[in-house]
Amino acid sequence: MGRQSSGSERHDVTDLVDSIVSRGLATGATDIHFEPVDAGLLVRLRIDGQLIDFESIPSRLSENVVSRLKVLASLLTYRLDIPQEGSLRWEGDPADPKAVGTDLRVATFPTIRGERAVIRVFHGTPQLQGLDSLGLTGDQVDLLRAAVAQPAGLIVVSGPAGSGKTTTLYAMIRDLRDRHVGRSVITLEDPVEQRIDRVTQIQINPYGELSYERCMRSLLRQDPQVILLGEVRDSRTAAIAIEAALTGHLILTTVHSGDPAETVVRFLEMGIASYQLVSAITVVCSQRLLRKTCSDCAGSSAGDCSRCLGTGYAGRTAVAQAIRIDEPTRALILRHPTVSDLREALKDQGPDLNERAAALVTQHVTDEAEIARVVGTSLEAVSPQQSASSQQEADR
Ligand SMILES: [Zn+2]
Repeated sequence: MGRQSSGSERHDVTDLVDSIVSRGLATGATDIHFEPVDAGLLVRLRIDGQLIDFESIPSRLSENVVSRLKVLASLLTYRLDIPQEGSLRWEGDPADPKAVGTDLRVATFPTIRGERAVIRVFHGTPQLQGLDSLGLTGDQVDLLRAAVAQPAGLIVVSGPAGSGKTTTLYAMIRDLRDRHVGRSVITLEDPVEQRIDRVTQIQINPYGELSYERCMRSLLRQDPQVILLGEVRDSRTAAIAIEAALTGHLILTTVHSGDPAETVVRFLEMGIASYQLVSAITVVCSQRLLRKTCSDCAGSSAGDCSRCLGTGYAGRTAVAQAIRIDEPTRALILRHPTVSDLREALKDQGPDLNERAAALVTQHVTDEAEIARVVGTSLEAVSPQQSASSQQEADR
């Protein structure tokens, strides 16, 4: 450290980059950011969806650190003025028998303070989560399994970006593949995020020839039984999803919307006739992902906790409100309800998202700050009585 000869400085930088990447990967981070700031480079990790500060690199080393990353990813080190992208395979410590190779993608971008670099981590064995381990209640899992066992219908998973919708769809597809062997399953995705063995997966290009709508039209002639349609984004895709569900196909899809009531009304607003919607849609599951309170330091955020790196959180759980489109709900949808009318009526089927999230605070699974960040509503809106009932619900 602090030696001036260029040879040892270079050696220091190599070790430093090795150390940051190894330790970054060990935390389970999905991205490692090297961001130019006035004092040098700020290294930040994306863990459980949140960026946290990890380390500071003094400015005398900044350029060499980014340069080392570029060498590793086979980028042009002498070009500092253009964005570049490359990849590498990180083999880990050869002395560590548990070390597994990890694919990394390095992207650089010139900024006014020098080059910024981001490493995207492709973990060798992505965590394949089963339906039972997402954080859904037993009742919710049963409801999804029953819907998936039907020969036809539309199952919608909704939530904002980063709420784990795709993970839930994948878990449903794997569950279906294992429990209902012999049904032909095809997915249309943008992009394909996980490979699922024994399932035909098609990558969509929403702005090219292979749009969701066009692919769905052609696909229906391929005699599929189950179709995972990555996302319903517009009225044309909504219409064909409904049409497919009404003609004997089981369709699983996602919609970017808040809760089950909003999701249903969204379909009506996209121009789907209410009588068609009620005949097609079977289940709506709206969800969020909440960071869990760190079990090592109990979320004290003391700063020294190696498990959560002082953030107070480690790992995530889904919290969901899953509703069945039953007879009373159908009758209500046919009358074109407002979101709040429908929301009120759906309370008959159990606690809503806020109540279920509040129950997780009571159980010390997460805390109010996380709920406020993710669900964005004040807990005062939830009466103690409701919290108690949703806790029982979540305990099942
Ligand atoms: Zn901790």
